[in-house]
Amino acid sequence: MQLYNKLSAEERARIIDENSQERITLSFYKYFKLGNPKIFRDHLFVTWSKLDVLGRIYIANEGVNAQLSVPEESINEFKETLQDIIPFNNIRLNFALEHYSKSFLKLTMKIRKKIVADGLDDKTFDVTNIGKHLDAENFNKMLNDSNTVCIDMRNHYESEIGFFKGAIKPNVDTFRESLEIIDNELEKNGSEKNYLMYCTGGIRCEKASAYIKHKGLKNVYQLEGGIIEYSRQVKEKKLKNNFIGKNFVFDERRGERISDDIVSNCHQCGEPCDTHVNCSNEACHLLFIQCEKCRQRMKNCCSDECVNIIELSYEEQKKLRKGKHNSNKIFKKGRSDKLKYKLS
Ligand SMILES: [Zn+2]
Ligand SMILES: [Zn+2]
Repeated sequence: MQLYNKLSAEERARIIDENSQERITLSFYKYFKLGNPKIFRDHLFVTWSKLDVLGRIYIANEGVNAQLSVPEESINEFKETLQDIIPFNNIRLNFALEHYSKSFLKLTMKIRKKIVADGLDDKTFDVTNIGKHLDAENFNKMLNDSNTVCIDMRNHYESEIGFFKGAIKPNVDTFRESLEIIDNELEKNGSEKNYLMYCTGGIRCEKASAYIKHKGLKNVYQLEGGIIEYSRQVKEKKLKNNFIGKNFVFDERRGERISDDIVSNCHQCGEPCDTHVNCSNEACHLLFIQCEKCRQRMKNCCSDECVNIIELSYEEQKKLRKGKHNSNKIFKKGRSDKLKYKLS
């Protein structure tokens, strides 16, 4: 039984290029009670490895959250594997708008406490008591209602490059902080308003809407399938698109363009730009927005310090890193006092 990746990311990328393999990027999630995540994980790994599925999957007692890259020729077989697993029967798959065969280069399955790190004690509220799901058309209607408070449930670096017009975009690093912002909004706007939420693929809204309902509110709505499904429906049904900019995604593409607007700026020079990169200095790896000019000028780095480090030999860099742990990445996403146009 093979329960690990035989190929490195580089080998995988080479094979995909050489065979000009077409791969489909998709995601799904499901909340359900899972008794033994480890057995479930091993089963999924064996089943999907056979089909050459790649991606990142979180498995917990509360369910599964999966972002995948599936070879085009195996997509039907892949769907059959979902039919064989009862909680996955008739599950909605969120397909990427933009095609990219190298969105994932490994199959990574992690057993976690939660499939979305929410920082909440589940016993405090009923996660299955969720808000009303809205499709794109009804979401648009609700968004235009003057009695609606629309809240973006994502983190600062996500809503920075794209959002729904009129939405509240909490400047937060974690989901837990978003819930605190919700509390403030509830206090400010009262219980008579409609509370409308959205996120990337819908998973965070499941919890957020349950949280708001737990506070005793009734008019709680969430965008079904998130921005990914919204933009698909907008295209298919030729609806008005109210999302401007890019949808941040958690694979190698980092963003999917939804409208031509560029709503953010390069963090180094301030010019309009919405391309996320990671700092080339492995010990830094900061996620930030960098334009092409700055990328060349700064050698893919976030700061002069990092440029100096990548110019050292590998051995010297290793010596510098020794004993130092990469600090919590969450707080390193676009937050650095070295970035002139994105201050902490
Ligand atoms: Zn720039
Ligand atoms: Zn850096």
